[in-house]
Amino acid sequence: MPPPPDSPSARFSALDRLGLNLHAVFDVDRLPAELLADLRRHFTPAHPVRQLILIGNAGRALWASVKAAGLDSADPIDDFSVRAVARWFAGQLPGHRYTLLYPGDRPVGLQALGQLAGWHHATPFMVGILPGWGSWFGYRAALLADTSLPVTAPLRVESPCLACAAQPCIAACPARAMEGGGFVLEKCLAYRRQPGSPCRARCLARDACPVGRAHRYDEDHMRHTYEHSLRMIERHF
Ligand code: SF4
Ligand code: SF4
Repeated sequence: MPPPPDSPSARFSALDRLGLNLHAVFDVDRLPAELLADLRRHFTPAHPVRQLILIGNAGRALWASVKAAGLDSADPIDDFSVRAVARWFAGQLPGHRYTLLYPGDRPVGLQALGQLAGWHHATPFMVGILPGWGSWFGYRAALLADTSLPVTAPLRVESPCLACAAQPCIAACPARAMEGGGFVLEKCLAYRRQPGSPCRARCLARDACPVGRAHRYDEDHMRHTYEHSLRMIERHF
């Protein structure tokens, strides 16, 4: 049954249809002090800010939408998401304004926001995991807005990792980045940067996790995501 037209989920249904199917709305003045202090850099007197809207994708639908849009750009996922959010906001919230924090050049702690939303439960390889979806979800947009939308209750779910005795992700990592109980980022990065490394275009640990296999990203989505992140790493480290 479709949601009632004035329900919070109906408000986001145009994004859902594109695969931008995770959403959380926070009142800015109720965010943890540290996060709020960080965000204040992006406030401007001319633009009142009341809420932060976090938008993500879970599963494969977003990539299908991106391919259907046929964007010819270096980062079609970001470009598609930015356009989709702009269209959605203009259609659903006329008369309101927003400032895009992500994607863009206004850094924001996405995993910290994901934790508040109940989306982020860290795996041994540090990507988030959710029951059902597994690790096959991501953050696509974060915006500050002058809206008064209903605030989203945090998702109350338990990490699938708590019930995973075998932890196949740890053994699957060729860099042994998770041996010893923690994640050693330097080992992962060094391995990924090797010429011909299988981890240039995927994470073998992520691929070994049995949770949410039905939602595993398509090969070309995976390649795009990991090669893009590796280019960022090689540019900044
Ligand atoms: S394989 Fe097990 S421990 Fe590793 S991410 Fe998946 S559920 Fe968590
Ligand atoms: S990308 Fe490769 S090296 Fe890094 S954690 Fe995943 S499997 Fe290990």
